[in-house]
Amino acid sequence: MKGDDMGDVLAEYESSSGRKTYQILLGRDGVTYCNCPAWRFSKDRPRTCKHLDKYFAGKVQEHRPQAVEEDPVYDDGSVEQSVEQAIRELKG
Ligand SMILES: [Zn+2]
Repeated sequence: MKGDDMGDVLAEYESSSGRKTYQILLGRDGVTYCNCPAWRFSKDRPRTCKHLDKYFAGKVQEHRPQAVEEDPVYDDGSVEQSVEQAIRELKG
């Protein structure tokens, strides 16, 4: 396998012309790479491309390497608290 020196091949996608195959690679540094030109010239950090998008879209339940940590929507205790409150109300 060609990408072996970089890490594990997670997925392979054909280019739109079907002439090339691009590989999604998990590097030893934990970064997910793609070997297409779009990824290489991506201005995003971490870099992305349609192949990575596709790969991650198919793996929604798995942890993304670039975890979104600043999500203020859920407060950890709130769910448990409301359950407790509901139980208390049921018991009278
Ligand atoms: Zn790509």
